[in-house]
Amino acid sequence: MEHKASLWRDCLHFFYPDCCLCCGQRLIGTEKILCADCLGRLTYTGYENHERNPLNMRMKTKIPIRGASALLHFNKEGVIQKLLHVLKYQKQSEVGLFLGRLAGLRLIGQTPFCEADFLVPVPIHPKKLRKRGYNQSMLIAQGMNEILRKEISGDLLIKQERTQSQTKKSREARWANIQGSFCLNPEFLHEQRFHQQHFLLIDDVVTTGATSASCCQELLKIPGSQVSFFAIAHPE
Ligand SMILES: [Zn+2]
Repeated sequence: MEHKASLWRDCLHFFYPDCCLCCGQRLIGTEKILCADCLGRLTYTGYENHERNPLNMRMKTKIPIRGASALLHFNKEGVIQKLLHVLKYQKQSEVGLFLGRLAGLRLIGQTPFCEADFLVPVPIHPKKLRKRGYNQSMLIAQGMNEILRKEISGDLLIKQERTQSQTKKSREARWANIQGSFCLNPEFLHEQRFHQQHFLLIDDVVTTGATSASCCQELLKIPGSQVSFFAIAHPE
């Protein structure tokens, strides 16, 4: 049933691009991407107001970051799950910008996030980039930047080829494998303009935290750097 419903939504969206990407209802007035009902069903974490939020507390046990936050709770079958699916698999780049703008509005004046000098999207592998047409985290960063007005650095980090499939591994082995799959672009290590700067790493969803921890670790190799982390969705 769900598959049929989503096919119906996709068809509707093809013929009527002004439909809600979640429920398929016609958008009215100033509505964009989501209708008012679906927009109202997004559940905000409010983490940006709490230094001791669960994401920050968990990440700080792994890595010396300044702060971590996520915009929304990730609920299975929820509005955000549908939106992120559309963003990743249906070439709807506008969804990334939309989510980024929502995030940017939440982070105005919120330390340490608003103090960052650079927004750094988590990179995806070049093969995936060619297939998808964009890096969804870069779109989120661009949407955030319409509000926050920082610099975006999309080439500081490099996603390397993963040597083995992740699926049959234990949690620990998966973590270790991800740890090695991002590296700092060596071209920029000695570039003075990146020294003594605060980087805000941006991702779409944070699950185990292995990806974000690995990226933060790499960014912390830049002399004098500080790192914070922000994701659109956190499953908790
Ligand atoms: Zn809707």
